Amino acid sequence: MVGLVSGIFGMRAVCRTDTGPDRFGKYYAVNSVTTCWEWTGFCGGDGYGRFGYGNENRAHRASYLMFIGVIPPGMSVLHRCDNPRCVNPDHLFLGTGADNAADRDEKGRQSRGERHSVLFRGEKCGAARLTESQVIEIKNSRESNAGMARKFRISAPHVSMIRSGKRWGHLSSEVKHASAD
Ligand SMILES: [Zn+2]
Repeated sequence: MVGLVSGIFGMRAVCRTDTGPDRFGKYYAVNSVTTCWEWTGFCGGDGYGRFGYGNENRAHRASYLMFIGVIPPGMSVLHRCDNPRCVNPDHLFLGTGADNAADRDEKGRQSRGERHSVLFRGEKCGAARLTESQVIEIKNSRESNAGMARKFRISAPHVSMIRSGKRWGHLSSEVKHASAD
């Protein structure tokens, strides 16, 4: 009997260490609008979720490793959806360190926009990727939401929110000015 019990416990212990995806599933919520898997677990100061799997400790990298495959040395896992908290493998892609640095630079220049997006999401983990001139281009263009989303590698709902003024609303006066010219 003792042997049987310890055998069961032994199996459980093995399962626990091997079920990354099961553990992972407890820490995100799917956003039905953006289809982002938004991390509900702990986020680090860099805005990325934290999750230990393999050699990875950031949730989006762990997601890539679990659901897509190995991350080659030196490669970064980047977001198509402009949402650092997102761990949906469909929204992730590999980039070089240089891509990642350019992405960060862009985010660093966006302190005003970043504040807006954080307020909009009501979450402490979040950042904007677009520049103000790109936002004005999105607002003025006659291209479809999906087309602009592809062009700027953001989600179509994000384009829609920009166009309706729910995001980047502070740019509306500049847009009017630009349209008048
Ligand atoms: Zn996403």
